[in-house]
Amino acid sequence: MPAIRILPDRVANQIAAGEVVERPVAVVKELVENSLDAGATRIEVEFRNGGKSYIRVEDNGSGMSPDDALLSLERHATSKIRKSRDLDSIATFGFRGEALPSIASVSRFTLRTRNEISLGGTEVLVNGGKLAHRRDCGMPPGTCIEVAHLFNSVPARRKFLKTENTEAAHIVHLTRLYAVANPEVSFALIENGRPLFQSPVCADLRERVREIFGRQIADPLIALEAQEPGLRLRGLIGKPGVGRSTRQEMVTFVNQRPVFGHTLHYAILESYHTYLPKGRYPLAFLFLDLDAQGVDVNVHPAKREVRFRDEGRIRQFVMWAVLDCLREAAGGLKPQQRTTDSAVPAPAVPSSIKPVPRNAVAGTATRAKPQSIRGTSAPPAITKAPVASPAPTQIAATQRPLDWRFVGLIHDAYALFETPAGLVLLNRRAAQECILYEDILERLGDAQPTTQQLLFPIPLELDPVSSATLTEHLGFLRSNGFVIEPFGRNFFRLEALPDWLDPARGEQFARDLVARIRERGLRPDQPDLAHEGIARMASVRGNPTTGETALINLARRLLTCRNPLTDPRGRPTYYEISRAELEKRFG
Ligand code: ADP
Ligand code: MG
Repeated sequence: MPAIRILPDRVANQIAAGEVVERPVAVVKELVENSLDAGATRIEVEFRNGGKSYIRVEDNGSGMSPDDALLSLERHATSKIRKSRDLDSIATFGFRGEALPSIASVSRFTLRTRNEISLGGTEVLVNGGKLAHRRDCGMPPGTCIEVAHLFNSVPARRKFLKTENTEAAHIVHLTRLYAVANPEVSFALIENGRPLFQSPVCADLRERVREIFGRQIADPLIALEAQEPGLRLRGLIGKPGVGRSTRQEMVTFVNQRPVFGHTLHYAILESYHTYLPKGRYPLAFLFLDLDAQGVDVNVHPAKREVRFRDEGRIRQFVMWAVLDCLREAAGGLKPQQRTTDSAVPAPAVPSSIKPVPRNAVAGTATRAKPQSIRGTSAPPAITKAPVASPAPTQIAATQRPLDWRFVGLIHDAYALFETPAGLVLLNRRAAQECILYEDILERLGDAQPTTQQLLFPIPLELDPVSSATLTEHLGFLRSNGFVIEPFGRNFFRLEALPDWLDPARGEQFARDLVARIRERGLRPDQPDLAHEGIARMASVRGNPTTGETALINLARRLLTCRNPLTDPRGRPTYYEISRAELEKRFG
């Protein structure tokens, strides 16, 4: 065994860099937090190539003296805590004194800084952890840090970085979070020389959300404010029924720190449970403030998670506060009555389902081919039996679509049919979605999509990032029946929609589409997959089919589907129990 040695600082810093700055967005986070800690009222973030080649964060905060400028690059050098007891009541973002030396150890790092009382600034250049120079420079009070060629000296780490787009998306999202949390600070974000947003000092949270996410999102939000001894929750949340396809606009802060932990998100999702359709996420910009003693921020090197001393109480408090707010906004109605009201846009399912059987073999559907459901040799396609084993035998239902006798609707969800071979329980929602999915998928495959021209074009205001995404993919959208015209900065007009889309849902659907493309959940460069993605999005949540005739038609139509067994999310559409099985059960 070789002798034990203390690692040289440079190596220790590079090791710490692996934890603190695992990717470009983490650098931005550390630098922006430092600027906020320094009391800045103006912060500018610039990056290139997803932050891999260049990051700059500039502020007008307190700045540093020439001596501190050098000291700040030493490991565990911090002006924010002095003794270990301070760890129990951390009021600043930083406290570990690790960020600057870590970043400087894996990049070409330039620090320029000047405090109020100095006449000029100090410039320090560190390359891969080695001090290259220190000299005077002219500058106004404040700090500017440039980080170039991140991880160039650590190829192993560079390899793990995602594409530039992905890294850029993270930086944009994070910068928006800090901007939202600090309306009193002016924020600018610049990507590859192009300003993505620039928000002056704002009067309040709503104004800041408006600046960054647009009026259409900000104005209808409802204000929330709740208090309990030692706890305070405040912010803005979406109205009942108004949801998003992603969590991008559900953001939470604990003592001003953006937090990605489970407790808060879970509590919010729970509160919206009856107020939003499945698979939709609420809009929320919520700030939880509690005594520094009630929360431990020192559980993650990048401080991305926090731990509450009393998780249960926090969850209860947040749920209660959000629910209260939602109930009031909904005017005291029982939540259940509201989930299907006009606030929830729903595709016009029953009317758009034409009882025309489609060719069951032709086509390019790439969804799993239906398994043979005839005979007992085939593996049972639907095995999620609500009753105990043995598994029910599959019946060749497709052969006899018309001799199902409708018995009734059970639990407001399942249509029960008597069939010559036994009985069938049909999940009407899954059946509807399955039909709608295939229907839309087929229409998306048409070379000439049928569109409906809108009498009154629908205005669409997007945040700058989404706006850039949309502009880039106008052609793709047009080829799928969405005719969208740019109309001023971050403004668009929906001129025509595909014929399968209810215009009342147009705006929401267009937003969802852009969000999906932005997050690369939908790839315009892979049309077949993209069609499936769009059809899946569009098939969610119709108004449920009711009435005997409609339910019978639903069953009949389902059996003409290419894959009638599962809905687009893979849930079974129906479930059969053979007579033999019934007889066996009753001895
Ligand atoms: P920490 O934030 O945990 O203290 P950092 O490595 O991020 O550690 O920063 C080290 C020190 O450098 C900070 O404590 C602060 O005194 C100083 N510093 C860093 N960034 C700035 C800035 N933008 N303005 C003023 N001082 C700064
Ligand atoms: Mg710091």
